[in-house]
Amino acid sequence: MTILLSTLNSRYSHASLGLRYLLANMGELQPSTRLQEFVIGARAADVVERLLAHQPRIIGFGVYIWNVEETTKIVALLKRVAPQVAIVLGGPEVSYETQEQEIVRLADYVVTGWGDVTFPELCRQILTGPKPLMKIHAGAQPPLVDIRLPYSLYTDEDIAHRTLYVEASRGCPFKCEFCLSSLDKTAWPFDLDAFLAELEALHARGARLFKFVDRTFNLNIKSSLKIMQFFLDKLAAHPDDPVFAHFEVVPDHLPDALKDAIAKFPPGTLQFEIGIQSFNPDVQSLVSRKQNNEKAAANIRWLREHSQAHLHVDLIAGLPGEDLDSFARGFDQLVALGPHEIQFGILKRLRGTPIIRHTESCKMVFDPCPPYAILANDRIDFATMQRLVRFARYWDMIANSGRFAHTLPLILGDAPFANFLALSDWLYAQTDATNRIALERLAALVAEWLRGRGADVEIVSTLLASDHAGKAGRITAGKAEAATPQRQMRHLAA
Ligand code: SF4
Repeated sequence: MTILLSTLNSRYSHASLGLRYLLANMGELQPSTRLQEFVIGARAADVVERLLAHQPRIIGFGVYIWNVEETTKIVALLKRVAPQVAIVLGGPEVSYETQEQEIVRLADYVVTGWGDVTFPELCRQILTGPKPLMKIHAGAQPPLVDIRLPYSLYTDEDIAHRTLYVEASRGCPFKCEFCLSSLDKTAWPFDLDAFLAELEALHARGARLFKFVDRTFNLNIKSSLKIMQFFLDKLAAHPDDPVFAHFEVVPDHLPDALKDAIAKFPPGTLQFEIGIQSFNPDVQSLVSRKQNNEKAAANIRWLREHSQAHLHVDLIAGLPGEDLDSFARGFDQLVALGPHEIQFGILKRLRGTPIIRHTESCKMVFDPCPPYAILANDRIDFATMQRLVRFARYWDMIANSGRFAHTLPLILGDAPFANFLALSDWLYAQTDATNRIALERLAALVAEWLRGRGADVEIVSTLLASDHAGKAGRITAGKAEAATPQRQMRHLAA
């Protein structure tokens, strides 16, 4: 084997779409190229041993925020034991600020941006000469029709056991400064008929779990409708063997035609990831995020009331201009809209993103190590940011897990953020931990906290018993829901 394409995925269930794109576009080099994926946490020496067993001449690594530290170790070992192997890096983590990175220093070549065309071209040069002079190669961005689609490269094992990532478009026209996609000039669509033909082939091979990585699925409504119709047709034809689809959508753009299609999906077949990030108009304007908050709220409400879609809504703490009170108001507003999950993220300084322009004016301090989370800014000090980080972890354990669906409304009361922050602070004081708390212990602690706040002992026991009995579904602000479809969707959210 001459060329290996490798990466460390964050979980086994995540099959790398980027590597499959590279493999699909290797041209005459494809027969001598193969994929070898790993999962983070693998021992670096074991990874190196397995890679070298193929006696490759080139190894291309997909480098992401979640694997850059481990990949750096792997590249360092490779350069010691097999310096003759050319190491080529690609991926978002090494597409910007290349001068500062140890992994770039260790590697032979880097392809920044899109690799579909530039990576195979670089491999040709490495293998047959003339030897590339430059270390950093800016990835060419060809028209999407010139890129071969990779979906036939999903193996039967991928289809049986892993989430299949697909994309109907690349890029985003919006400019939210904390997001790497803000550097795209626009969104580029793939040929829709060709894409749907690939989905059809995957479905015929047994694929049932499709996760769209399009940054804004509902940008072009005509295309969105055609894709939704594809899934509705499959659901109608195979009601006992349903498909599941996950899309990222912008919340303030749901025309009636799209709503009509969404409303037709049965429970457990559709999931939306919706970025709100902040409800504060001043913050939105500071980070160049265009969002009509009223429309966004109305659409989330509509989705909750008129569709069966599972809603996973994102908020970010630590944005410039956002203090604790403003974040709390946004959080409470979102809880009141009743999404099934609130993904409470802490701002990260992704390499290349324009958010750094606020560094001085907002006194933003970021962790220098991946994932480069914010540690403090002019409105939220380090200690408070730490409380928010713990809030996010406990929120995942208690709310997003769905394990306390009946008890959660009692915890949140009429001041969800303040009450959950109080619980979070108390839990940390009791346990000194934000992970590895056994469910039984967590339930006992929640009960103790509720009783300490004057909750009726019997009501608390009944609610926790209902949760414990496995009747719990996903939380919403005040409602518990049936568990089955949501449990299926949990796989999709992985
Ligand atoms: S946050 Fe979403 S809408 Fe904003 S630039 Fe990124 S992908 Fe686009």
